[in-house]
Amino acid sequence: MNNYPNLLKPLDLGFTTIKNRILMGSMHTGLEDRAKNYPKLAEYFRQRAQGQVGLIVTGGITPNLRGWTAPFSGCLKFKFQTKRHRLVTDAVHEADGKICMQILHTGRYGYHPFSVSPSGIKSPITPFKTKKMTTKDIDNQIKAFVNTAQLAQIAGYDGVEIMGSEGYLINQFIAKRTNHRKDEWGNSFANRTRFAKEIVQRTREAVGTDFIIIFRLSMLDLVSQGSTWDEVVTLAKDLEQLGVTIINTGIGWHEARIPTIATCVPRGAFAWVTEKMRPHVKIPLITTNRINTPEVAERILAGKQVDMVSMARPFLADANFVQKAIDNKADEINTCIGCNQACLDHVFKNKRATCLVNPLACYETEYKITTTTQAKSCAVIGGGPAGMSCAKTLAQRGHNVTLFEASDKLGGQFNLAANIPGKDEFFNTNRYFQTQFAKHNVNVQLNTKVSANDLSAFDEVIIATGVVPRRPKIDGIDHEKVIIYNDLITKKQVAGKSVAIIGAGGIGFDIAEFLSEDNEAVYSNPKAFCEEWGIDMTIQSEGGLTKAKHAPSPREIYLLQRKTSKPGKGLGKTTGWIHRLALKKRGVKTMVGCNYDKIDDQGLHITVKKKDDTQEQHVLNVDNIIICAGQVSVNKLYEELKDKQSTHIIGGAEFAGELDAKRAIKQGVLLGAKI
Ligand code: NAP
Ligand code: SF4
Repeated sequence: MNNYPNLLKPLDLGFTTIKNRILMGSMHTGLEDRAKNYPKLAEYFRQRAQGQVGLIVTGGITPNLRGWTAPFSGCLKFKFQTKRHRLVTDAVHEADGKICMQILHTGRYGYHPFSVSPSGIKSPITPFKTKKMTTKDIDNQIKAFVNTAQLAQIAGYDGVEIMGSEGYLINQFIAKRTNHRKDEWGNSFANRTRFAKEIVQRTREAVGTDFIIIFRLSMLDLVSQGSTWDEVVTLAKDLEQLGVTIINTGIGWHEARIPTIATCVPRGAFAWVTEKMRPHVKIPLITTNRINTPEVAERILAGKQVDMVSMARPFLADANFVQKAIDNKADEINTCIGCNQACLDHVFKNKRATCLVNPLACYETEYKITTTTQAKSCAVIGGGPAGMSCAKTLAQRGHNVTLFEASDKLGGQFNLAANIPGKDEFFNTNRYFQTQFAKHNVNVQLNTKVSANDLSAFDEVIIATGVVPRRPKIDGIDHEKVIIYNDLITKKQVAGKSVAIIGAGGIGFDIAEFLSEDNEAVYSNPKAFCEEWGIDMTIQSEGGLTKAKHAPSPREIYLLQRKTSKPGKGLGKTTGWIHRLALKKRGVKTMVGCNYDKIDDQGLHITVKKKDDTQEQHVLNVDNIIICAGQVSVNKLYEELKDKQSTHIIGGAEFAGELDAKRAIKQGVLLGAKI
């Protein structure tokens, strides 16, 4: 019997049937933006279709240059452009899948000087001004949507998704926040929604009945002067009347200052929003955000309030997510951990998206894992992210792999990360690798510290011995008040009521989060999360906003760095603001330009360089000083072995600066693919 009966049930749309309830939601990869990359895009989608996903939605394709996300982003305006899209639709159809193309017009979110918007109000998240649309401009943009939908049909798509949420152009018309027009396109709610309704009506007329139209409706704007629930329902009913096939849920504008998809958001935290819509329309509803396992998806669908679940990033992490659910092998799924580090953070830096836990994503035609013709005996030393990914890849290819780990468990730095509140998804990566080791017969030797002599019989030795925390040279570093971050996370030591954290990098922020959050329910319970971040679950207020209730930190916390730049500058583009905001709301004090003079019974003595180049001396009278000053490589074994036999070094052992799991896992996979 299958564990996911509701998830795997077909959905009959009348003119076509979707084979299960899983939508691979729209995710910009960057491959859409260049014609030459469409063969890569086609292979990326082909693999997801082969993995049995029910319905795919492409990344956003703009109807014209006014709607660009950034200069030269993927556009479908002319018939000759349908040829490249044919590669995608053919690949998906050959794999017995279905695919819709998302039509995305960014309006004032466009990162270029040609953007247009209802009232010419500049967006807070782009540096560009935006032109107020004339009535003629509005008609032209509606025609552009319809033209693109028709071209999508010619290109062989099964339908389109009209992007009406996340604060993009259609949403900008709907909300008072961005629509100050006094003509027939603004003022009243009926007028503000006219743009969306005209697009849907004219598109349906143009494409006929047997073509899927998904409308991504912003059900919870999470910005001031957004829609109220009554307005959202009114629009949903109108869209149903006008011929929309399916309504997908949009949560939060890009400029909203409430997290909606990061790891710290509880799983399935926004399913209640879509469920609220159920009594009001008859067409299928899709729910979304932070659904990353078949169990969560099944639980939501079993409530019978929604018809499909959308997952985007989980399909970067694992192309075979659905097939594994069909086979009742959910423990083999490479789970998306919600980190955004290789997907959205890349997209926002105009780099191709990929995935931290699956570096093959979006590189399907470039990186290939092939069965080896010459099985070798391989020793991998170190069971952190780099060692685990290398061991798994080698074994998957048919090599005989022994993985040595000095401690009593696998995971390395991931075990530390997973113990930070709101980051326990990292445990899933450890679980994934361990399942793979059992499947591919990796000989895992825990509690085993090997020396060079122990390794002489192996054909290949891969050193992935990782890092140890740096102990900076500060007078008094051995004082009993000092705690190194890993001892705190593993609970070997406990922090007092007041602390100073030395180092405001990724781990300094994590530690500040660890010590300042008193209510762990905010990471697992949607209600607690909504209360903390100020989400009105009745959505009676505009945008669904209410007063946030961030509990103050139970400790006095100072987060310090030597640089004078903004603390947390190096954190991920799409998640750094969440960490900075959460710590600010909990009253964590940050100090920059610090010189650490000494540590003694009084606490931490610092000299702070001010903006005017003057200096001030302070004594932070704290119970503990937590050291988060980066790491140094552990590479002694490599130095001993490198001239003796075929030896490789990867991950933090090779380079500790800017140590990150994305690089470590990618290095492990690519080396494993090569040996
Ligand atoms: P990091 O980000 O490089 O930060 C190290 C911090 O220590 C810096 O703030 C640095 O700032 C300070 N520092 C370095 N040498 C020092 C010294 N000798 N004395 C005093 N302070 C010193 O390293 P990390 O925090 O250990 O994080 C490691 C990696 O994990 C990062 O590259 C990051 O990508 C990843 N990570 C990311 C996240 C996230 O994005 N949320 C979370 C955890 C980890 P100053 O030089 O200005 O003092
Ligand atoms: Fe998920 Fe992180 Fe991979 Fe993005 S990079 S798909 S958030 S695991």
